[in-house]
Amino acid sequence: HALPGDTESGSRRRQVEGAAWSPVLPTPVARPRLLAHSAEMTRALGFDAETVASPMFAEVFGGNALAPGMMPFASNYGGHQFGHWAGQLGDGRAITLGEGVADDGRRWELQLKGAGPTPYSRRADGRAVLRSSVREFLCSEAMHHLGIPTTRALSLVATGDAVVRDMFYDGNAAPEPGAIVCRVAPSFIRFGHFELPASRGDIDLLRALADFTIARDFPHLEGDGEALYGAWFTEVCTRTAEMIAGWMRVGFVHGVMNTDNMSILGLTIDYGPYGWVDNYDPDWTPNTTDAQGRRYRFGWQPRVAHWNLGRLAQALSPLFDDVAPLQAGLDAYAETYARLERETTAAKLGLPDFRDSDGDAMRALQGLLQAGEVDMTLFFRGLADLDPQAPSLDVVADAFYDEAARDEVRTRLEAWLQQYAARLRETGEPAADRRARMHAANPKFVLRNYLAQQAIDRAEAGDPDAIAELLDVMRRPYDEQPGREAFAARRPDWARTKAGCSM
Ligand code: AMP
Ligand code: MG
Ligand code: MG
Repeated sequence: HALPGDTESGSRRRQVEGAAWSPVLPTPVARPRLLAHSAEMTRALGFDAETVASPMFAEVFGGNALAPGMMPFASNYGGHQFGHWAGQLGDGRAITLGEGVADDGRRWELQLKGAGPTPYSRRADGRAVLRSSVREFLCSEAMHHLGIPTTRALSLVATGDAVVRDMFYDGNAAPEPGAIVCRVAPSFIRFGHFELPASRGDIDLLRALADFTIARDFPHLEGDGEALYGAWFTEVCTRTAEMIAGWMRVGFVHGVMNTDNMSILGLTIDYGPYGWVDNYDPDWTPNTTDAQGRRYRFGWQPRVAHWNLGRLAQALSPLFDDVAPLQAGLDAYAETYARLERETTAAKLGLPDFRDSDGDAMRALQGLLQAGEVDMTLFFRGLADLDPQAPSLDVVADAFYDEAARDEVRTRLEAWLQQYAARLRETGEPAADRRARMHAANPKFVLRNYLAQQAIDRAEAGDPDAIAELLDVMRRPYDEQPGREAFAARRPDWARTKAGCSM
């Protein structure tokens, strides 16, 4: 399934036409040092503890050495950014080292992020700073443990080099420590990989890439021609719906849902200025560059995903004589998302089935949570402790950020609890069953921005163990984990205005 590669050597920035990738080597760094790794991923890839601890591991995953068989490349894609076609983008700071096949037969592509310039780096340096790398490393693994489809992270290596970022973050131009994450996924192909050849009228490359993707990553799909392409697009749509439903359930805000950041496998990809909703607010976005339009706010994610799938449909349309299968895929997205939203509502409220009135109740509750500045995670977790015979706000007492806002909604929230308790009594379910259902849908631990920031601060001060400690908490987000309550605490005041933005 070889796709045409651009064999012009080196990382000279350029438009790459007629090719989906370019060979490129990582640029060596000063002193690679392993700061953290994912035990699940090293195990899956067959690295034993001794190998992980060896200097060679940090050399390879810091971009200073290649293991036998590695043939590094950067891939070529375009994308719609903030609603506008942006032309060629490509892996400007990502370099794939190669693929590994795990014992269970699963294939994993290993990709360094921040390993130096590629043909697609445009005017940027191809590097990543420690803080954004810690955030990507931790959140990839946290999302996986939450059960939400995502790219994974194998390792986090400090480079020993300084990196300067003067945009997007505090206007701060001071040098910062550099780092490299090795991220891992069956494929890093994005919607934008298809949009770019389509935009250039290169239908041969578009078709080759579609055929390659289907054969490698969707081998279970049957048929051929337009029927196969249609089935494939529909599956991309339904997988995307599942991912978005997961985000909405746990309060994750991606922050840069451009089509170049949408995975063809429906994986959460590109952890940049992401954030987690603390006080419930559908209008919140962690992306400070999106402050005006707030296109990438929490509550808009389902419709932005639909819009992005529309751009993918447009890109794939040259493969179809009749666009009906593409429309069917987009409809499948809407239907799947609507179904999952109903299931999520029932699960978060601990109901054995869903009624339309439960949807109304959830919407009413969301309005109260927003007006009352109520912590989303703490509220739903606490709600599992409600006694349907004697409903009281006591179970969610620690979820409020502001006394005045709380007092303003108190009466309405109590009335809502009364109605909810009546609905629970009607189910006749034992409290333990309801509690278990709610705990499985409402995590106790999410990677709140301030938690990641604390780990970053400690890592920058020379104590990388904070990263492993936080990762260990995020391994079991739905468990009570007695003694670790501090990691479930609501956002402290100092973190209120701090944006999640991290490029
Ligand atoms: P993002 O907004 O992070 O999804 O990135 C959009 C585009 O900018 C992609 O083509 C990235 O590869 C590229 N890019 C982002 N940061 C850098 C960097 N430091 N060096 C080179 N390219 C970058
Ligand atoms: Mg990106
Ligand atoms: Mg990015």
